Amino acid sequence: LSPVPSDLEISRAQTPKAVDVLAKEIGLLADEIEIYGKSKAKVRLSLLERLKDQADGKYVLVAGITPTPLGEGKSTVTVGLVQALTAHLNINSFACLRQPSQGPTFGVKGGAAGGGYAQVIPMEEFNLHLTGDIHAITAANNLLAAAIDTRILHENTQTDKALYNRLVPSVNGVREFSSIQLARLKKLGINKTDPSALTEEEVSKFARLNIDPSTITWQRVLDTNDRFLRKMTIGQAPTEKGYSRQAQFDIAVASEIMAVLALTDSLADMKERLGRMVVASDKDGQPVTAEDLGVTGALTVLMKDAIKPNLMQTLEGTPVFVHAGPFANIAHGNSSVLADKIALKLVGQEGFVVTEAGFGADIGMEKFFNIKCRASGLVPNAVVLVATVRALKMHGGGPSVTAGVPLKREYTEENIQLVADGCCNLQKQIQIAQLFGVPVIVALNVFKTDTRAEIDLVCELAKRAGAFDAVPCYHWSIGGKGTVELARAVREAASKGSRFRFLYDVQLPIVEKIRTIAQAVYGAKDIELSPEAQSKIDRYTQQGFGNLPICMAKTHLSLSHQPDKKGVPRDFILPISDVRASIGAGFIYPLVGT
Ligand code: ADP
Repeated sequence: LSPVPSDLEISRAQTPKAVDVLAKEIGLLADEIEIYGKSKAKVRLSLLERLKDQADGKYVLVAGITPTPLGEGKSTVTVGLVQALTAHLNINSFACLRQPSQGPTFGVKGGAAGGGYAQVIPMEEFNLHLTGDIHAITAANNLLAAAIDTRILHENTQTDKALYNRLVPSVNGVREFSSIQLARLKKLGINKTDPSALTEEEVSKFARLNIDPSTITWQRVLDTNDRFLRKMTIGQAPTEKGYSRQAQFDIAVASEIMAVLALTDSLADMKERLGRMVVASDKDGQPVTAEDLGVTGALTVLMKDAIKPNLMQTLEGTPVFVHAGPFANIAHGNSSVLADKIALKLVGQEGFVVTEAGFGADIGMEKFFNIKCRASGLVPNAVVLVATVRALKMHGGGPSVTAGVPLKREYTEENIQLVADGCCNLQKQIQIAQLFGVPVIVALNVFKTDTRAEIDLVCELAKRAGAFDAVPCYHWSIGGKGTVELARAVREAASKGSRFRFLYDVQLPIVEKIRTIAQAVYGAKDIELSPEAQSKIDRYTQQGFGNLPICMAKTHLSLSHQPDKKGVPRDFILPISDVRASIGAGFIYPLVGT
């Protein structure tokens, strides 16, 4: 329709097909799905075993240039592209998207189901609750948080023997170690399996984790931006006997458990990752894990359904997996490895799986390659880089773009000079993608105010910068038929064969890996470590975590650490203020600037 109705009106005007019909269409067996309502289903992991000999389809990543705060349409392009591939070119395809957090959904950004005539439907089901995966993460995260503080309280108020009796209770007069406890005994060098055989010294060693409260990094979470919970004091009831401390709530999707969900490839692997999560150090500086607290099994059982990808559909009835939603700043910002793996089997060798990475290519795409592809072993065939005339004008020196404030004249009228000047950011992002040896197709997401001359200029400059192709896309206003040219270009690029490579060797020292990303991807002259960052790097290296990939936590509004520096900032020194670790997810995350 013209004018294009609101995203919600479009979503509500289309009745989705029943999800069991969709499941059958894409080759799922009746006992491989678990239906939630009419339009959502979870897909069982047993499918991977059934299809293990099936060759994978082509794997395409949608990334973007440095965006304005409004978002440049990566989700809409992802949906538009699969609508074009499946509904218009008759090629099996799957979109794999992240589940949005309630934080941004009720904030400035809104939902993440796409927009216009390129959406996942029903929008409300997609954006809110879905099948409860984020709630499961919240439950698991907070169980672990409770276990930490309770353990500290018990260790401070009980004798070794009382603690031991609590950990290894007598059932009908018999005490037995659990498998987790046997593993802990082994780790402590106590080779005994009979609980009554431990010496007093061994009982104390076994029963006490000696957590140093000042080193606790595990926070409670909630999927609401509740600013009044950002800093609080816990443990103020008299029963907590004065063991109060400062703590905070984070947004649920920032939990390491979300990153674990996104990177795992089986229930057994998820259990191991959950057990490895480091929550604090003990008084000797050694890491304390979820496994040490004895809660790995409980966390796994809380997550047993969340691990199954969620099946939904686009406006044109093509299949979509919505699964996991780690943020792209403190985590790696990509949907789940499992959804991609299952989708790659379901589409068949000639089919396409299109997945999206958060923020600009310097952030989401770099992490997709260096973290997600390293974890999954999957090899991408092409990158679609989404650009808009509006964001390029901003990079060319246009006035700042603010959510909720009408765009200035520079953005609503033709301005060739601003577009030409701003294309430096697009060129730089193309070069970043090329560092990984993958062909790049630029998708110019066209807005109604863009002029022919502006569109032609962007496509011309993108090709000159080395893009395999550059095409204007009209999926937002007319659906999949507006992205057919993009789909053809992607098909051609993916047929060329990928020469994919990682940017760095994980065995390099942590500082060298950070420097490589800062210089090769962001264009920094060098990095500068705060004393805090340096001491954390030393500690993680000494604890044996030095060989993990790096997940930079940096602003998405600039290639540099300063959000107001647009275009391609040069000659800057990237400040690393702190460094943290997500050992279960499997990465080290440096905090860039403030
Ligand atoms: P991203 O994934 O890059 O953050 P989205 O795809 O979520 O961006 O799009 C952000 C918002 O912009 C959505 O509300 C969407 O409807 C709107 N939008 C995207 N493309 C267009 C377009 N071509 N014209 C008008 N609005 C658009």
